[in-house]
Amino acid sequence: MSDFESLELRGVGRRFGGVDALSGLDLTIKSGEFVALLGPSGCGKSTALNCLAGLLPLTHGEILLDGRRIDTLPPERRGFGMVFQSYALFPHLSVEKNVAFGLQMQGLPRAEIDSRVREAISLVKLGEHAKKLPGQLSGGQQQRVAIARAVVLEPSLVLMDEPLSNLDAKLRLDMRTEIRRLHQSLGLTTIYVTHDQEEALSLADRLVVMREGRVQQVGTPDELYESPTSWYVADFMGYRNILPATVVSTSAGEAVVELPGTAGGGDGARLTGRAVGGLAAGDDVRVAIRPEDFVLVSSGVSAGSPTGRAAGSIPGAVSVVEYHGREHAVGVQTGDTMLHARTPAAPQVGAPVSLTAPVERVLVFPEALDAVVPQEVAA
Ligand code: ATP
Repeated sequence: MSDFESLELRGVGRRFGGVDALSGLDLTIKSGEFVALLGPSGCGKSTALNCLAGLLPLTHGEILLDGRRIDTLPPERRGFGMVFQSYALFPHLSVEKNVAFGLQMQGLPRAEIDSRVREAISLVKLGEHAKKLPGQLSGGQQQRVAIARAVVLEPSLVLMDEPLSNLDAKLRLDMRTEIRRLHQSLGLTTIYVTHDQEEALSLADRLVVMREGRVQQVGTPDELYESPTSWYVADFMGYRNILPATVVSTSAGEAVVELPGTAGGGDGARLTGRAVGGLAAGDDVRVAIRPEDFVLVSSGVSAGSPTGRAAGSIPGAVSVVEYHGREHAVGVQTGDTMLHARTPAAPQVGAPVSLTAPVERVLVFPEALDAVVPQEVAA
């Protein structure tokens, strides 16, 4: 159980040489929260986590636990648990000895160590493997040992850096559920670094999307999924079609845009979408559309029904069809652009088609990302 009320990062930054790996990170984490730091490789996620852990000194800002500065404390005095991508287990020690190690370092009595180790091992469901060496376990089992080793210390905060990235797809799903279950049943506070949006959306109470060492947007999974404030965040939230465009006109929160590089007469197809942020005619923008929001129309027959007003239409030809169980992922080539759609029935490769979407599912963002000021949404 976390024994603090809030952890606050104020203007936290870290420079390497002349380069800011992390800059101006402001974030307040409440006890019991699960917060995911999400972003592509190199955006500063691990740097943020290592600054929190005390493995990297800050070059700017401060970190406070219930108002008390902790960024000057060494890692072992912060009382945080860490789980890394590489499990970092001792190969020559059994599962139970690996889990007991931290408690032994604290000099706890033998009986207490034994009972806490037994409890932690049973929490991660490794009871029957307690005497085995790490090398005799699967990747998922080793990761569970690493988690048991962190939670046995009853840390006030658990920091996890891409803990599932070495596991295969099925194990990753199982372990994801396991991590959420442990977080809830132990009342932990967890900060979790990942580049996998699905993992972040399914695990976290709040997501922090990072770009080039800065926060791009903070919000609940629902807020980020439904209302990304930039095309960069939309890209992480399943808007696989991010298309450069130019605003032709705007009115009442909507923008008509032209998509260069698409077929469709003149300089490209025109679409109407919801304008996110202030836009004016002539602005460079990016249009974001989820594959599942496109409706594919072939020879006048629609494979799905657009709900609401249609945004316009982009002509093209089916270039690739992938089977995905209940539906198909369809690539549609239009001019020099490939669009991604999903349809229940498989269209013929090469068939001429057109794509449309409801106006409210087409988001139009300013091209410039720095125009978006990240707002921290209260937990
Ligand atoms: P990944 O998912 O690939 O681990 P990340 O988002 O965690 O990426 P960081 O590891 O935090 O990114 O790195 C952020 C930036 O800081 C990168 O440009 C990286 O090259 C740089 N960086 C990180 N550690 C150091 C270091 N010790 N010395 C110099 N530059 C570093």
